[in-house]
Amino acid sequence: MGTKGREIIESRGIKIPELVTLLNKVFADEWLAYYQYWLGAKVAVGMPREAVVAELIQHATDELRHAGMLADRIIQLGGTPLIEPKEWYEFTNCGYDKPADPDVRVLLDQNIKGEQCAIMGYRQLMDYTHDKDTVTYDMALQIMTDEIEHEEDLEAIKEDIIIMLGKKK
Ligand code: FE
Ligand code: FE
Ligand code: MG
Repeated sequence: MGTKGREIIESRGIKIPELVTLLNKVFADEWLAYYQYWLGAKVAVGMPREAVVAELIQHATDELRHAGMLADRIIQLGGTPLIEPKEWYEFTNCGYDKPADPDVRVLLDQNIKGEQCAIMGYRQLMDYTHDKDTVTYDMALQIMTDEIEHEEDLEAIKEDIIIMLGKKK
């Protein structure tokens, strides 16, 4: 069944199934990022462990919230959010970097890479919806703003570690 919201988007040339697929791809990324952060916070070792753990937990919470925003938008568009976790691996843009090495510096690098990929994913979604689907565009911008902050936060901790190590010598 059509809605006014969907009719407007389609009249501007967006193919809704195509848009839903793009949204499901970043939806998969968010779940995998959530788990990567959540587990990283559990296993992290090294200095400054507490600061890193606090940041990873905060980011995990944000990624889960992003997944919720995307699921709501997918449903508004008449689509279905991925119903099987195994589909996360089929749809993901950014993949999953398992925290096999619990060293905080390795975790930081893995998650920085993930954030950089997420930023690109939302940039693409913004390009796709620009001037055509303002609601999705605005949501992608909000999420991308969070991902930029995430990357920056992780980089700042990395810099602290470098300074800390320098002072010990
Ligand atoms: Fe996110
Ligand atoms: Fe993030
Ligand atoms: Mg943060």
